[in-house]
Amino acid sequence: MGDNSQALVGDLLTELYIGGEAVPAGDGGRFDVLDPATGDVVASVADGTVDDAIAAVDAADKAAAAWAATPPRARAEILRKAFELMSAQSEDLARLISLENGKALPDARGEVAYAAEFFRWYAEEAVRDIGSVTTAPSGANRILVVHQPVGICVLVTPWNFPAAMATRKIGPALAAGCTVILKPASDTPLTALAMARILEAAGVPAGVVNVLPARRSGAVVSAMLHDPRVRKLSFTGSTEVGRVLLKEAADQVINTSMELGGNAPFVVFADADLDAAIEGAMVAKMRNAGEACTAANRFYVESSVADEFGRRLAERMSALAVGPGTDEATQVGPLVNQDAVDKVDSLVRGAVDGGAKAVVGGGRPDRPGFYYDPTVLVNVHPDAPILKEEIFGPVAPIVTFDDEDEAIRLANDTEYGLVAYVYTGDLARGLRVTERIESGMVGLNRGLVSDPAAPFGGVKQSGIGREGGHEGMLDYVEAKYIAVQW
Ligand code: NAD
Repeated sequence: MGDNSQALVGDLLTELYIGGEAVPAGDGGRFDVLDPATGDVVASVADGTVDDAIAAVDAADKAAAAWAATPPRARAEILRKAFELMSAQSEDLARLISLENGKALPDARGEVAYAAEFFRWYAEEAVRDIGSVTTAPSGANRILVVHQPVGICVLVTPWNFPAAMATRKIGPALAAGCTVILKPASDTPLTALAMARILEAAGVPAGVVNVLPARRSGAVVSAMLHDPRVRKLSFTGSTEVGRVLLKEAADQVINTSMELGGNAPFVVFADADLDAAIEGAMVAKMRNAGEACTAANRFYVESSVADEFGRRLAERMSALAVGPGTDEATQVGPLVNQDAVDKVDSLVRGAVDGGAKAVVGGGRPDRPGFYYDPTVLVNVHPDAPILKEEIFGPVAPIVTFDDEDEAIRLANDTEYGLVAYVYTGDLARGLRVTERIESGMVGLNRGLVSDPAAPFGGVKQSGIGREGGHEGMLDYVEAKYIAVQW
C-alpha cells in the first residue's frame, strides 16, 4: 500500500454504520479489503452478523415514520446537499474507488459524477411524485391514487460500481420516503461507508440510511428478508444470486427490483460510420476494463467490414496503458480479484481452443496484481462459452454476419436482455433493429446508455424493474387507491 492510500483510508469509516453510529460487528469480526493493483491489504472492515442485520432493521424501523412524514421539499434539500458534498469530494471519492476496485482514475471520476447525479435527479423527483384523481367510468365515484413509501428497503450492491449502484438505489428510496439498509459488496465496502458519512453530513437523520458490510452475505440478507418489517429488496448483481434472492423474497412476498447480469451484443452494419463504431466499441467494451453489466460482450460485424473493424479495434486496444488504477497515466486498471482474472482467462482459453485467434492480447501480463491484457478475438466459434457468459474483462470477441435477420437472431441468442448496441447509417434500419432486439436498453450509434434521467434495466434474465429516471422512483412507492363516493 502506497503512502497516498494510507492517507486516504486513514479517516475512513471502517465499522458498520447503524442508526447513525459507527459500530463494530457484534462478534468483533473483521475482513480485509485488498488493493487489486497489488493484492495488498488496504483496510480491515467490520464484518456484520445476522444480529447486526436485525439491529440495522431496528434502526431503519425507528426512523421510518418520521422520514416518511418529512415534507418532500425537506427530503429533496437533503438529497441536493448530498449531491453537492459528493461533487465537492469527488477527487477523494474517485481515488478511494480506484483503490478498492482497481478501476482507472478517469473511470472512477466518471463514476463519481454519475453517482452524485442520482442524488440531484431524485432531489428534483422528490417534489414531483404526484398521484392522480380520475372519474370512475360509471361517474358514481372518484378514483384517488396517492403514492406512499414502500417501507424499509434492503439494498444489495455489487463491487463494479461501488458508488453509483448505491446512489441509484438510495436516491429514489430516500426521495420516496423509505428508510434503507445497504449491504455493499465485500470487495468494495469503503466507498459505501464513505457515502454514509456524506449522507449524514447532508442531514439524513440517524437510521434512515444504514450500511452493513458483511462477508456472510447470504445469511445476513436472508435474515433481513425474513423480518416482517422489511418490505422491499433492490438487488444489483449476478443473475445467479438474483435468482436465489427472488426465492428468499417470495417467503414474505417482498417487493423486488432486480438489476442482473448482461450479455450485450454490439452490432455493426456495413453502412455504419466505422470511426464512430470503433469509438463506441472502445467505450462499450473498455469502460471499467470491461467490468460492467452493460459491457459489450459479443461483437457482431457485417462480413464486408469485419476485417477492417477487427484490425482497427485491435490497434486501439493494444495502445491502451495498463497499470494501477490510481496512476494518472493508466487507462485500464486491474480486474477486481484473482477469481475475475481466472474466469476471463478460462473463457479466452476456451475460445482459442475452439479455433479463435487473439489478434492482440490473450493472456495476463507478467506483473503482480490482478491484470488481464486488452484482447481482441476473431474467428470465434458461435457456441464458444465466451459468447454465452459475461466476460467481465477487457476482451472483445468478434463474430461475422451476412444480413439483418442473422444479426438479430445472433443478438437475441441469449437468456440475458439488458442492453444492446447497434451501429448503422440507415435510421430506418436502426429503428427496425432496435425494436426487434430483446433488451431493456439499446444504444443506437452510441456506446454508452447509462444516464440518471433514463430508466435503466433489463428484460429476460437481466432483471425486473427500472432504476433512474421517473420510472426509478416508482420502484419505491406503493400506489394506494382511495375510492371516494360522489
Ligand atoms: P454478485 O451477485 O456475486 O454479488 C452482488 C451482491 O450480492 C454483493 O453485495 C454480494 O456480497 C451479494 N451476495 C452474494 N451472494 C449472496 C447471497 N447468497 N445472498 C445475498 N447476497 C449475496 O455479483 P458481483 O460479482 O458483485 O457483481 C457482478 C454482477 O453484477 C455481474 O453479473 C453484473 O452484470 C451485475 N451487475 C448488474 C448491473 C445492472 O444494473 N443490471 C449493474 C452492475 C453489475
